[in-house]
Amino acid sequence: MFYEGTIIRPPSEADSIILQVTVGCSHNRCTFCGAYKGIQFRIKEAHLLEADIAFAARYCTRQKRVFLADGDALILPQRKLISIVKNIRHNLPWVKRISTYGNAKAIRSKSMSELNELKDLGLDRIYMGLESGHDDVLLTIKKGETAQSMVEAAGKVSEIDIFLSVTVLLGIGGVDLSDRHAEATGRVLSLMAPRQIAALTLMPLANTPLYDQIQRGDFKLPDARGILKELIILVQAISLDRVQFYANHASNYLPLSGRLQRDREKIIQSIHLALSGGASLVPERMRAL
Ligand code: SF4
Repeated sequence: MFYEGTIIRPPSEADSIILQVTVGCSHNRCTFCGAYKGIQFRIKEAHLLEADIAFAARYCTRQKRVFLADGDALILPQRKLISIVKNIRHNLPWVKRISTYGNAKAIRSKSMSELNELKDLGLDRIYMGLESGHDDVLLTIKKGETAQSMVEAAGKVSEIDIFLSVTVLLGIGGVDLSDRHAEATGRVLSLMAPRQIAALTLMPLANTPLYDQIQRGDFKLPDARGILKELIILVQAISLDRVQFYANHASNYLPLSGRLQRDREKIIQSIHLALSGGASLVPERMRAL
């Protein structure tokens, strides 16, 4: 495969064929994100993509899913995206599921009939980064969206029954907005109604503006206890039923997962146990992105 730069994929796509159809992220301004810093967003060269699909046709016959990378492949013009998806269907006929990252702008750029067209061709999962449901936080981190615009984008995905997975970021409100960030995020997630929620914990990367803010003392990251308290507020604020909730990413201090609301009390009890010293946390040196 002709991969360029760092290839990032959701944990649940670990077994997928990763096809890099774009390089970088069309937004690339989030202050906490160092994934594509310094990389000019572009569509991957057609001949390289052709070669990658040919490679997958030969060597990836046991993998039933394809994940389209990089940061927001859904932003591709519809005609281009349709041609890629048709190419996958034609050359990798055993593939059952196609997934991609899709930010709110990319979702907004597609009409309902365009999303339906993609769904009919096999796109069945979109991963979207909300990060925070608090508008002040979204503004500060330069997400380029508001809580309302994220809710609207999520509504389009849900309306055509494409599986929506939403990621949020514990700690991104800093100490100052910690509680309000957690509460607003739970509330906005409830409005977005994704099928899956992944709560990661902020780990500042040295190549990001947020890291510089921390060094200058302009942003104070909550400590492990602060993050766990944030997690309690977040879980309590989610009013959805039957949503899969994951806080077991390598960045998290306490690996937790379950189905809300069914497992809500169990999750909260586990956090209280850790806060009281009855369960150990992942040591800093073992945490990773
Ligand atoms: S967090 Fe997502 S949208 Fe923001 S810069 Fe990184 S890849 Fe792009």
